[in-house]
Amino acid sequence: MPEPPKRPPRRHLTVQSVSQLTPRLRRVVATGELDGWDPARPGAHFKVFVPQPGSDEPAMRTYTVRRFEPGALTIDFADHSDGPATTWAKGAQPGAGFQISGMAKSGFVPDPGSAWCVFLADHAALPAVAAILESLPAGLHALATLELQDPRDALQLESAAALEVRWLTERGEACEQLVAAAQELSLPDGDGEVWVGCEASAMRRIRAHLLHERGLRPGALHTRAYWRQGTVNHSDHDTGEEDD
Ligand SMILES: Cc1cc2nc3c(=O)[nH]c(=O)nc-3n(C[C@H](O)[C@H](O)[C@H](O)COP(=O)(O)OP(=O)(O)OC[C@H]3O[C@@H](n4cnc5c(N)ncnc54)[C@H](O)[C@@H]3O)c2cc1C
Repeated sequence: MPEPPKRPPRRHLTVQSVSQLTPRLRRVVATGELDGWDPARPGAHFKVFVPQPGSDEPAMRTYTVRRFEPGALTIDFADHSDGPATTWAKGAQPGAGFQISGMAKSGFVPDPGSAWCVFLADHAALPAVAAILESLPAGLHALATLELQDPRDALQLESAAALEVRWLTERGEACEQLVAAAQELSLPDGDGEVWVGCEASAMRRIRAHLLHERGLRPGALHTRAYWRQGTVNHSDHDTGEEDD
């Protein structure tokens, strides 16, 4: 029998500082066992383990490397659910302990041949978009469309790229405005890529539209579900590709 794959060791971290960036976005900067930790590419994700009331086992959820400097990891937690990770982040104070596991995975670096990048995201994917935008080179055209439940959660996004940002406010179902924006989007001329991070069904509708109505090639699409309506701890492997 082959050995089951070993789980990477957990690293113990301590909250160093917290700040409320906007009414529903809380930043946690943590220090601790980060030696040799590699944040990989901008917008990469990893597992967070937070204490769970009423259980000896911590809850595991997926979060994004918002920033990594040797010895300090920054995570931005959106307040969008009553789940354990969101609840923990809302109450986190300096000195609180939590864990992360393994190395950060995936992330996004545009193809050198791309003239433009389009980003379609909701609040949960805002930290990833902010991190990726900060890494883009001058000369690239970046268009970011982001849907928020509360317009007061809009952030100043920074990029060396020529950046156009459009904020949408949720109406009706979550990510409905984002799907409509994707369907109306005018894509710039030349080669480019589209990055999508949002609710799972909305991500599938956007992916299907871009592939089948707009004729984008699969390699130009970087889609991932950041959560799923009604699902606890939705898989971080859900890219929608199996439905192509
Ligand atoms: C690759 C990746 C990177 C991510 N990075 C970040 C990040 O940096 N910051 C961040 O805030 N989130 C991020 N997320 C989203 C986060 O993992 C989920 O929102 C997660 O479900 C939150 O855990 P929880 O314990 O609060 O809620 P859970 O216990 O998982 O879920 C409780 C309930 O809340 C609902 N719910 C979960 N998320 C949302 C949401 N966004 N909006 C509305 N309802 C929701 C669920 O459907 C469920 O019904 C990321 C997800 C992925 C896949």
